Amino acid sequence: MKTSIIGYPRVGSLRELKFASEKYFKGTVSAGELNETAADLRAANLSIQTANEIDFIPSNDFSYYDNLLDAAVLLNIIPDRYRELKLSELDTYFAMARGYQGEKGNVKALAMKKWFNTNYHYMVPEISDDTEVKLVGTKPFEEFAEAKNEGITTVPALIGPFTLLKLTRYIGKKTEKDFAEAAAEAYTEAVKKLACLGAEWISFAEPCLVKDLTADDIALFKDLYKIILGAKSGVKLLLQTYFGDIRDCYDDVTALDFDGIGLDFVEGKKTLSLVKEKGFPKDKVLFAGVVNGKNIWRNSYAKTADIISQIKPVCGEIVLNTSCSLLHVPYTLKNETKLSEEYTKHFAFAEEKLGELKELKNILSAASPKETEEYKKNTAVFNEDRKASDKAVQERVASVKEADFTRLPAFEEREKVQKERFKLPLFPTTTIGSFPQTSDVRANRTALRKGNITEEEYKAFNKNKIKECIELQEEIGLDVLVHGEYERNDMVEYFGEKLKGFIFTEKAWVQSYGTRCVKPPVVWGDVSRESSITVEWSVYAQSLTNHIMKGMLTGPVTILNWSFLREDISLKECAYQIAFAIRDEVLDLEANGIKVIQVDEAALREKLPLRRTDWDSDYLDWAIPAFRLVHSGVKAETQIHTHMCYSEFTDIIKAIDNMDADVITFEASRSDLQILDSLKENNFRTEVGPGVYDIHSPRIPSKEEIKSALNNMTAKIPVSKLWVNPDCGLKTRGTEETKPSLENLVAAAKELREEYK
Ligand code: GLN
Ligand code: ZN
Repeated sequence: MKTSIIGYPRVGSLRELKFASEKYFKGTVSAGELNETAADLRAANLSIQTANEIDFIPSNDFSYYDNLLDAAVLLNIIPDRYRELKLSELDTYFAMARGYQGEKGNVKALAMKKWFNTNYHYMVPEISDDTEVKLVGTKPFEEFAEAKNEGITTVPALIGPFTLLKLTRYIGKKTEKDFAEAAAEAYTEAVKKLACLGAEWISFAEPCLVKDLTADDIALFKDLYKIILGAKSGVKLLLQTYFGDIRDCYDDVTALDFDGIGLDFVEGKKTLSLVKEKGFPKDKVLFAGVVNGKNIWRNSYAKTADIISQIKPVCGEIVLNTSCSLLHVPYTLKNETKLSEEYTKHFAFAEEKLGELKELKNILSAASPKETEEYKKNTAVFNEDRKASDKAVQERVASVKEADFTRLPAFEEREKVQKERFKLPLFPTTTIGSFPQTSDVRANRTALRKGNITEEEYKAFNKNKIKECIELQEEIGLDVLVHGEYERNDMVEYFGEKLKGFIFTEKAWVQSYGTRCVKPPVVWGDVSRESSITVEWSVYAQSLTNHIMKGMLTGPVTILNWSFLREDISLKECAYQIAFAIRDEVLDLEANGIKVIQVDEAALREKLPLRRTDWDSDYLDWAIPAFRLVHSGVKAETQIHTHMCYSEFTDIIKAIDNMDADVITFEASRSDLQILDSLKENNFRTEVGPGVYDIHSPRIPSKEEIKSALNNMTAKIPVSKLWVNPDCGLKTRGTEETKPSLENLVAAAKELREEYK
């Protein structure tokens, strides 16, 4: 039995790539130095995989920013506005990823979206009618050759043409079909080149196959691969699927001439039954995704052995694989020095998952697997009771009533009461919460953590920051203010740290997009709020200003979706536990004089099932109620805001309206305001602030640009419901660009007010 993985994290176990890239962006390291860091990381990844005797080691899983962007660049899918900057290859790439503002021009970044049901984000490739799709890049060849030089024949991992074409945005008249042949030919050429370089296997990742497919989709998929497979010679091709099962195309896929097929036995609800009932071609290798690439828990060897024993009779060769790329888990437990054995023995990060594959290989090759030491040790861990249970929390969730999900009075009545109370101008301006997390802010937090300053000193520093932040907002002329979130490392980690039931890692970073990483907390036991979390900050901030100070919380669905979760209770139960905890904080803020409270649900959509048929039953039916539970107890005159980002909202717009918030702000600038039509069509009731500029990029939007965005919005949204705000929090930005950007935003809103007087 052999082992394989789909991809390894690349940002570095101590985020080396992040730091090197950021220095490169600032101009303090050269392209050559950045490249060296990258090469070191790739070498480290290879050696850790060889040390764990992985048989199929991927290459080209590295990326400076995003693999789909790499695939687009490989195929010459580079919009003219980036070419015209005439930058180096690397800088053109970064301009697509981050936007460019400098002496050579001023362009926005490509749109960014969530990668399937993960918290990773990809850059949306953009094709116009005159895009010439052809092989121009060299990355997969270089990275294959680099590993080959080290004596390792890797499996080049390419994002397949079907997924690439499906995730691309077509801005002209042509569609995916018009580019299919050219794409297939470009991939065919890439296959030939890799074969010449000595590749034995090449993998094509096609996660789009696990979504609901139409007959046209399947036809497109077949057309693409008929060309690629028809031209193959010598080298073996692996079709790699993940994040679900391929029930819509199982027969089509298995009938094609692939040498191996990768199936996901973890998230694919139907994978096991498909294989057992339909069989699997004996002449193909089944890459069985049995080690979860998304969770941080140990693999249950008993379960894995059971799956393998069920599929063995119907399959030929089986390779043990991860369920998806390990990109979605932290690097290594070796960096966790504070968590005791009691916890860590239940954990497996990327490196430990490699170890599990190695152990599983030995176990499953043994004459009596259950008698092996590794197997016994593993089952012993699973047999322990590790739950930190809290009866009161369980009872509170068990006794929840229908009325707990309904805020009274109804929306229209509240809207009236609030307009009367707040007397805000038309086009009220606000921000999403955080202000730049400058190095002094982070240093203050680090100093507290290391015990170099007292709690009082820590707080005094933050209070001073809050004061400056309020002065800045007053100077800029914003209407609804925020305190700036200086006390937060991350919007989820911060709340996790304050809530009972969570535990924390030190270095367990996971890439979210580009250079941005998150360190998700771990839900270990039943969750509750022991004491107030944000009240002191918000009350202090409100005391400094006559403007409305917006309280700032993270919502239950986002906390849930950005944490590593228990697997012994349902998502719904976990969501309701967190919802009750946040509800307690909402009521506490209200009781302490905070009049507007924002409950962020940035990641609301994240765990939405990939298949529409599962949306309501598996997700929305508890996720939306969880949010309602948070705010149903407040008075009519308290205004509840929520905020969402980075995803398509159009198809769940009704569910979003059903969250019954008073105001929602969301990311829209990167998707060119496509969502506005949907708001109009659905008669969206909640007041809205579609972001008027992109905060993920350092460029400063002009007043005219913001006015033009607002004018587009007024065509679709009643002006009485329209708010003006950036598209997300400002924490990743510098003060230099934040101030002029917000000044332009306020100036634009003021001019519109005049026009609408
Ligand atoms: N309130 C948060 C902030 O401003 C929201 C962050 C987010 O949506 N990702 O940082
Ligand atoms: Zn956001």
